[in-house]
Amino acid sequence: MRRVIIAGNWKMYKTIDESIELVNLLKRSVVDIDDVEIVVCPPFTSLSDVRESIMDTNIKLGAQDCYWEKEGAFTGEVSCAMLKSAGCEYVIIGHSERRQFFGETNEMVNKKAKAALREGLKPIVCVGEKLDDRRAGKTFDVVKDHVVNSLSGLTREDMMKVVIAYEPVWAIGTGVVATKDQAEEVHKYIRGLLKDMYDANIADSVRIQYGGSVKPENIRELIAEEDVDGALVGGASLKADSFTQIIKGCL
Ligand code: PEP
Repeated sequence: MRRVIIAGNWKMYKTIDESIELVNLLKRSVVDIDDVEIVVCPPFTSLSDVRESIMDTNIKLGAQDCYWEKEGAFTGEVSCAMLKSAGCEYVIIGHSERRQFFGETNEMVNKKAKAALREGLKPIVCVGEKLDDRRAGKTFDVVKDHVVNSLSGLTREDMMKVVIAYEPVWAIGTGVVATKDQAEEVHKYIRGLLKDMYDANIADSVRIQYGGSVKPENIRELIAEEDVDGALVGGASLKADSFTQIIKGCL
């Protein structure tokens, strides 16, 4: 059985005070929930304070990015060891906004995933096609390219710690959610790729989240799909109320 995982990607929102306020509200409203793994991914500056606020709760901490080198003269970058020391268990890697605005390639995503795993962080690896790709009938080609090359060289043991987030770029922050059938079709395809790359056990075990305009109104039908194991939530994770409703919509 794959445990449902709902992660909130706060992107470049929330000062430290705002982060604490949000997570304090959230922790009270999800206090009794065990059946869903809950992760929040604040900006780097809020990680330590959010960690303090969620100590001894059912909420886990994730970062939104990392760098692959251990340390060095890489101004502005944050290493996986630093994230670990700030209390992170997860790290989002290869988000489409990083691919689109900061030129991240599959090769970079792969290096980051390996670095995260080396430090004992669990990578949430994002994959997904743009609108033009989908219109041109290239969805599966793009997703295959992202999955195969982002995960290249990862062992079976590594894969047990990886979460894949299928995030069609046309659905992120647009209010246009993929239909449950569109999501399930790609999730099933990714599971098939994992079977080819590894084996049936890995394919059955790896959790695949859907991301792209997930809201309280659409989570129930998405999560009901066989191969949808959770969600990576942007906008709707910025309010405790909507994020809580999404989490509760998975129960
Ligand atoms: C995201 O940031 O990964 C995301 C899916 O954003 P939104 O939920 O706002 O579409």
